[in-house]
This record gives sequence, C-alpha cells and structure tokens, in this order.
Amino acid sequence: MITETSKDMEDHSKKCLLQSEALSKYILETSAYPREHPQLKELRDATLREYKYWSLMSVPADEGLLLSMLLKVMNAKKTLEIGVFTGYSLLSTALALPDDGKITAIDLSREAYEMGLQFIKKAGVEHKIDFVQSDALTVLNNLLTKEKQEGAFDFAFVDDDKENYMSYHELLLKLVRVGGIIAYDNTLWRGRVVVAEDEPAVDVARDAVRKLNTFLASDPRIDLSLVSIADGLTLCRRLY
Ligand code: SAH
Ligand code: CA
Repeated sequence: MITETSKDMEDHSKKCLLQSEALSKYILETSAYPREHPQLKELRDATLREYKYWSLMSVPADEGLLLSMLLKVMNAKKTLEIGVFTGYSLLSTALALPDDGKITAIDLSREAYEMGLQFIKKAGVEHKIDFVQSDALTVLNNLLTKEKQEGAFDFAFVDDDKENYMSYHELLLKLVRVGGIIAYDNTLWRGRVVVAEDEPAVDVARDAVRKLNTFLASDPRIDLSLVSIADGLTLCRRLY
C-alpha cells in the first residue's frame, strides 16, 4: 500500500537515503561489497582492526565505487588526494587510473598510510602514487608556484580537516584543469549541517562545512552537485 501523501512526495528530503540505515546497509551489501576489489576489502578489514572507531574516516565502499566510476568516465590520469589515512579512497583512485596515471597523495601523517601500503602493493598500483608527508596547504602552494603545475590535474579528492577546505578551493581551481573535478568529502557532516534543536554551540567542522556549502553554491566558476552519498560528496567542475 502506498502511504506517502502527495505532500510527502513533494518533500524530497523524506526520500533521502541517509535517513535509512537499512537502505544504506542494503546498498553496501547488495551492490557495493560484491564489486569491491579484494585488496580494498582487505584494507577495509585491516583498518577496522587497527583503528577501531576511527576506521569511520575511510570512505565507504559505495563512495569508492562512485569515485572510481567518475575517474574512468573522465579518463583522468593525474590526480590529487588530500587526506590519505590508511588509503581506502587512494587505492580506489589508483585502481581506476590507467597504468601511467599519477596521484599526488598528501597527509600530515605517514603512519596510517604505511599500514595500508601493503594492500596497495599487493594490488600492483604503488607506482601510481607519490605520497607527500606534509601539510596540504604548503604542498598545494608549492605545486602552483615552484612546480608550475597550473591546470595539470584532472581531479582532486579533498578529505582532511574540514576547516581547511575553504583555503584549498582557490588553489585547487588553479591546479585542476578546466573541465576537471574537485570533490569535497563529508559535506553533509553526519546531517549536522542542518540546524538541530539540540545543536552544540561549538562545532568548528560543522560551521566550516556550512560556510563551504554556501560559498560553493554562489561560485560562478564551477558546476556544482552535492551528492548525498555516504557523508555527502560535493562535486565541483571547473568551468573556466
Ligand atoms: N581519504 C581517507 C580518509 C582521510 S581521514 C580515506 O578514505 O581513507 C583525514 C586525514 O587527513 C588524516 O589522515 C589526517 O592525518 C589528514 N590531515 C589532517 N589535516 C591535514 C592537513 N592540514 N594536511 C594534510 N593532511 C591532513
Ligand atoms: Ca571522508
């Protein structure tokens, strides 16, 4: 029996997948896990064993598949990854690029990446990765000014501290070519971008994500799509 009223049908937020844990589980178990590369599964299992609660930081398998699809459709060859952790999104990207593809992967810490590296090696894609242990803002500035990499990248995946995203945007709009994509992760911030009654007064990341979302909506230099997959993935396509 159809119980939705026409009013409910008009309210698209009622159809948001993020509100149903069962649906999210269904997507993963029925569609994403059967398609997950064996080394990605091993990396995911090892990340859970090693990092417990913090394994939540990895992108989930369905988002990994979306990133992979996107890179293949674009014929991406050269990409940037900001925020590597144990490398789930990194390995998803590396598997999607051609054999001569290159990823500049940046993280403040090398420890988690070292753990994931065994699976990246086993998958045979280590040669596509140039890992840089550093603060990302410094690296992006260097790529532009010292290494003259303007317009050199097809794609950038941004997934480090949310307070940093705004300061990367201007640089990424130069580093990524016209027609290329900048993808910002966690842009729905577990739903907390929406003002709740029990909202904590201070949540620096939430406020940063809200500011970014509002800013991007009025940025004429990009095509924009906030995809409500996982924790929210904002795709920006450079127009000029
Ligand atoms: N994309 C990863 C998850 C990244 S978690 C995955 O899907 O598995 C966020 C990472 O950002 C952490 O590893 C943290 O060390 C890194 N980070 C935080 N601030 C940073 C900065 N200023 N520059 C570079 N990396 C940073
Ligand atoms: Ca993330």
